[in-house]
Amino acid sequence: MALSLQPTIERRRDQMFPDLDRVEIERVRRFGEVRSFAAGEALLTAGQVGPGLIVILAGRVDITQRNQSGGRDLIVSHGPGQFMGELAQMAGRPGLVDATAQEPVQALIIQPDRLRALFVAEADLGERIMRALILRRVGLLETGAGGPIIVGWAENGDVLRLESFLRRNGHPHQLLNPETDAEAKALIERFHVDPGQLPIVLCPGGQLLRNPGEDELARCVGLVGPIDPNRVYDVAVVGAGPAGLATAVYAASEGLSVLVFDCRSFGGQAGASARIENYLGFPTGITGIALMARAYNQAQKFGAEMAIPDEVNGLNAADDSGRFVLQLRDGERVTARSVVIASGARYRRLGVANLDAFEASSVHYWASPLEAKLCANQEVALVGAGNSAGQAAVYLAGQGAKVKMVVRGANLGATMSRYLVDRIEGHANIEVVTRAAVSGLEGRDGFLEAVRWRHATGEELRQPLRHLFLFIGAEPNTDWLAGSSIALDPKGFVLTGEDAGADRHPLETTRRGVFAIGDVRAKSIKRVAAAVGEGAQVVAALHSFLAEAAANPAMAPNSSATSPLAPAQSR
Ligand SMILES: Cc1cc2nc3c(=O)[nH]c(=O)nc-3n(C[C@H](O)[C@H](O)[C@H](O)COP(=O)(O)OP(=O)(O)OC[C@H]3O[C@@H](n4cnc5c(N)ncnc54)[C@H](O)[C@@H]3O)c2cc1C
Repeated sequence: MALSLQPTIERRRDQMFPDLDRVEIERVRRFGEVRSFAAGEALLTAGQVGPGLIVILAGRVDITQRNQSGGRDLIVSHGPGQFMGELAQMAGRPGLVDATAQEPVQALIIQPDRLRALFVAEADLGERIMRALILRRVGLLETGAGGPIIVGWAENGDVLRLESFLRRNGHPHQLLNPETDAEAKALIERFHVDPGQLPIVLCPGGQLLRNPGEDELARCVGLVGPIDPNRVYDVAVVGAGPAGLATAVYAASEGLSVLVFDCRSFGGQAGASARIENYLGFPTGITGIALMARAYNQAQKFGAEMAIPDEVNGLNAADDSGRFVLQLRDGERVTARSVVIASGARYRRLGVANLDAFEASSVHYWASPLEAKLCANQEVALVGAGNSAGQAAVYLAGQGAKVKMVVRGANLGATMSRYLVDRIEGHANIEVVTRAAVSGLEGRDGFLEAVRWRHATGEELRQPLRHLFLFIGAEPNTDWLAGSSIALDPKGFVLTGEDAGADRHPLETTRRGVFAIGDVRAKSIKRVAAAVGEGAQVVAALHSFLAEAAANPAMAPNSSATSPLAPAQSR
C-alpha cells in the first residue's frame, strides 16, 4: 500500500529517466540534428513549443518546474546519454517545464515527425522512450506542475467544470483555495480580483483568465492551435471516443494522414467509465480514462493529429475536386478526402423542471475521482439501472459514499450485467430503491439540498442530500449533420450499409466516402469493444474508397445513394 502512495518519480525513476548507451545514440542520430547551446541558454521554456525530443550528447541540462512563488524547483538534471521531453514534445505542443543548459551543451534535436519515425523504425528503443515520455507526464499530473493554476473553491461548479476538462485531457493543473492558500490570496490581490469573479486561471505563459470557457482555457494552455487550411487530410474523424481513436490508430499506422476532432476531450463516454471490466485483455479491469489515454498517445505516436477541443458543426457536400469540407464552431474549415463519423452519444437528462439550476455543482453525469472526493462519506442518489449506473454506484460506494440507487424497474437483473448486480447486492453502502422515479429537486444557489422520488404506489419520499448522479442512457450526437444529406433513423442514429442504399460498404452512410462507426451508428452494439472493432474495420473501407477515388477522380462523393429514409434533419 505504502508503495502506491509514493510518487511515480520515486517508484519508477529508472524508466522515467533511462540512459541511452553509445550504440543506441548512434542509432538515433539519423533522426535528428546536432545543435549547441551556451551555458545559461534555455533549451525549452514552459508555455512555449519546444524543438522536440532532445538527447544530450555533452554537457548538463537542468529540468525545473515553476513553483507558486515564482521560483524554480529542480525535477532532474540530465547529462550525456539522457534525453529531455515528455508527451507535449511528441505532439508539438507547448512545454510544461523549463530546461536550461548548466554548461556548454551539445544535443541531438529530434523533431516531432522524426520522433514518430524513430518509434516506428526502432521498436525496442522507441518503446523505452515512449514509456519515459508517458511516465514523465504522469509525474507532472501528480504534482500539477507545468499546468495552469486555478484559484477557486473546490465545490464551485465552474471550478469543477475546469478541473474536469483538464483532467479528461490529461493536462496537469493546481487548485488553490482563495481563503486558506497564501499564494491564492497574493494572486487575487495582484490582479485585483473580486471574490465574485472567481474562479480565475493563471496560465503558464502568465495570462490571467477570469472564469474562462473550456475553449479559451484550451487555447491559453496550448492544447489546440490553428489548423492549416490548405492541407487536405486523407481522413477526418469526428469524435475521439474509442471508435474514433481506433480509426486514428489503424489509419495512421497504415500511412493515411488523419485529423481527429473532439469537442470536449479524448475518450468519449468510455473516458467517463470508472472501471471497464469487459474489455478484452484487461482481466483486472481498467479505468476508462487510462484505457483511452493509451489509445490517444498511441494514435499520436503513429502521426494522427488531434484537434481537441474543437467542435465540428457542419459537413459540406464534396466540392468539385471530390473533397469534403468540415466547418468548425470557431469558423475554421478543414478539407478531407473521406470522413468518419464517430460522434457517439451524449447523456440523457432527467425530465425534472429545475434540473439545470443544479447541473453545475450538484448533478453529475460521470463518477471520476473528482466527484468521489466531493461525495466521500455523504449520502448520494444515483438514477439508472444499466451497466454504467452499476459501475458508478460500485465505484462511489467503494470511495466511501452511501449510494441510493433509484430505478424504475422491479430489479436490476433485466438491464445490468450479472457481475455488477452481484457486486451491488454485496455492498453495504448501496441501497437499491426499486419501482421509483425522481419527482423533484430542492436546493439554493445552485447547490442541491434534497431529492424527492415517487414510488409506484404513489408515495413520495424526500431525501436530504447534496449530489445526484444520472446514468439514464444516451442520445446520438448527430445534430451537427443537419443539412449534410446523411440519412438518420427515426431516433437520430446514422444509417449505414444496406440501410443506407445499394452497394454500400457495411459502415458507409448515404454519402459515398462518409462512414459512421460506434454508438452513433444505427444498430451498433453500445460497447467499447464494438466501437473499437468498427474503428479498425472502417480503415479497410477507407483504403478501398481512397484508392478508387484516386483511380477515378470523377467518382462520386457527390453521389448520394437512394435511401429508404429522409436525409438528416435536426432533431
Ligand atoms: C459511464 C459509462 C460507463 C460505460 N462502461 C462501459 C463498460 O464498462 N464496457 C463497455 O463495453 N461499454 C461501456 N460504456 C459504453 C461505451 O463507453 C460506449 O459504447 C463507447 O464509448 C462508444 O464509443 P464511441 O467512440 O462510438 O462514442 P463516444 O464514446 O460517445 O465518443 C464520441 C465522441 O465524439 C465527440 N463529439 C460528439 N459530437 C462532436 C462534434 N460535433 N464535434 C467534435 N466531437 C464531437 C464527443 O465529445 C465524444 O468524445 C459505458 C458508457 C458510460 C457513459
